[in-house]
Amino acid sequence: MHTVLITGASRGIGAACAREFACEGYRVAIHYHNSEDKARALCDELTAAGQEAMIVKADVCDSAEVRQMIAAVEERFGFIDVLVNNAGIALQKLFTETTDDEWEKLIATDLSSVFYCSKAVAPMMIREHRGCIVNVASMWGEVGASCEVAYSAAKAGVIGLTKALAKELGPSGIRVNAVSPGVTMTDMMAGFSDEDVAALREDTPLCTLGKPEDIARAVVFLASQKANYITGQILGVNGGMVI
Ligand code: NAP
Repeated sequence: MHTVLITGASRGIGAACAREFACEGYRVAIHYHNSEDKARALCDELTAAGQEAMIVKADVCDSAEVRQMIAAVEERFGFIDVLVNNAGIALQKLFTETTDDEWEKLIATDLSSVFYCSKAVAPMMIREHRGCIVNVASMWGEVGASCEVAYSAAKAGVIGLTKALAKELGPSGIRVNAVSPGVTMTDMMAGFSDEDVAALREDTPLCTLGKPEDIARAVVFLASQKANYITGQILGVNGGMVI
């Protein structure tokens, strides 16, 4: 049985990934930071359905906590076949009003976390000459968003990291890819008015906004053997908004 660790799996896209991987028969390590109740409820839901699951807490901005998280999952489930770097935050703000602290927090949560988590699993994957990393980027990392400079920069960094790491770890039998979601209806969209959401829907060629499950299915595909010759790729899942 394969094991997947999903960061930020307490809610939104990460929780949908946990359900989707569980359906595929993976053992699922559900990572959370603050939403312990939600992570525990999801873990109970999966175990009640006969799947193996655990919860694990860490602040992904803290490399020591990340190393402890990886060690805890390895101790319980053994080798981590798939790491999904999904945890993240957003920030809608004028560039000129973005503070140094906000910039640093966003880069730490959305970009440094991917470095810390990938670095913590890489040695075991290199040792076993197998494994796979799927990062969750964003279409704004591909094309940039006004009033989301820090977020766009962090996600562009995730895209660069994905491509570079795929080249470096390919010879060790490890694939590294990213999904690049478009607007997806989760808590991250809570700050948007109904009018803003309607405008975003109108701008989407498929005339509908993303659901967490839409993103999760792409993540599971990239992790699967069906994608065994795919590495270093950024898979847009955005209803055609960015092509
Ligand atoms: P969400 O519903 O707000 O969930 C965010 C998750 O990240 C939560 O599980 C949260 O954990 C975790 N998290 C945040 N800060 C953390 C920290 N410092 N340490 C550990 N975990 C932390 O967001 P989402 O919409 O599902 O987004 C998931 C990913 O998709 C993000 O990387 C986001 O940038 C990306 N994305 C989202 C959209 C969209 O439209 N929703 C579009 C493109 C890309 P706790 O609640 O346990 O603290």
